[in-house]
Amino acid sequence: GSVGCNMRCPFCQNWHISTWSSQIKLSRIDPLELLSLVKKYRVTAVAFTYNEPLISYEYLLEAMPLLKKENVKVVLVTNGLINPLPLKEIVHYIDAANVDLKTFNRETYKKLGGDLETVLKTLQILKSFNVHVEITHLLVTGINDDLGEFEALCSWIAGELGDKVPLHISRYFPSHKWTKPPTDISLLERALEIAKRYLEFAYLGNVSKFSDTFCPSCGKLVIKRRGYKLQLLSVTSDGRCSACGFDLGIVLL
Ligand code: SF4
Repeated sequence: GSVGCNMRCPFCQNWHISTWSSQIKLSRIDPLELLSLVKKYRVTAVAFTYNEPLISYEYLLEAMPLLKKENVKVVLVTNGLINPLPLKEIVHYIDAANVDLKTFNRETYKKLGGDLETVLKTLQILKSFNVHVEITHLLVTGINDDLGEFEALCSWIAGELGDKVPLHISRYFPSHKWTKPPTDISLLERALEIAKRYLEFAYLGNVSKFSDTFCPSCGKLVIKRRGYKLQLLSVTSDGRCSACGFDLGIVLL
């Protein structure tokens, strides 16, 4: 990660790095140095994340092919604001992506400095190139808490990308310029219920429950998660439920 972002969300949960601050000490790791660190520590996957990685596009263009040559998995965590042509230049090197889909309302997207159509196109391109795609949706009090719009978002994901795309509905906490109260837990639970009508893998983020994975076919608990810790309980090496064989779409490194 680095600093900077091409959007200006007033509720940014990472605002100290997404906005420029000279107090942040940075040290540059050029792509060749990154490669030697990866080799030295036998790293199996590198994620470009924290701030918006696409603003360092030239860096990605140089680093991603080097990593792929070493069989290192490449993960992109992004707001998805990129045009199709430059995306297609790097998409072959991306194994997995987590894309923020902030709202299904064009006007709200514009106010945040983004563009709904561009993000939807990015998701379609990633999926069409067989990238493992997950979507994060931060449910922010007073910004995107209309559940009708949220339902339209879930329906679009299922229809355009498939019902196996995991959706992480994250709880917002007051941050940066946004002081509205944290997302109501009961609203998050209602959003989760709606998501589950359309998608097989919907989770709540930034809350202690609802982050485990259950097999949609037989209901078995297959992955248990507590914060950043996870336990694979019933997943085969090719990402299927060990109890019933259902393809969970899970990527194991
Ligand atoms: S896109 Fe993400 S990192 Fe950028 S301003 Fe919005 S919330 Fe912050």
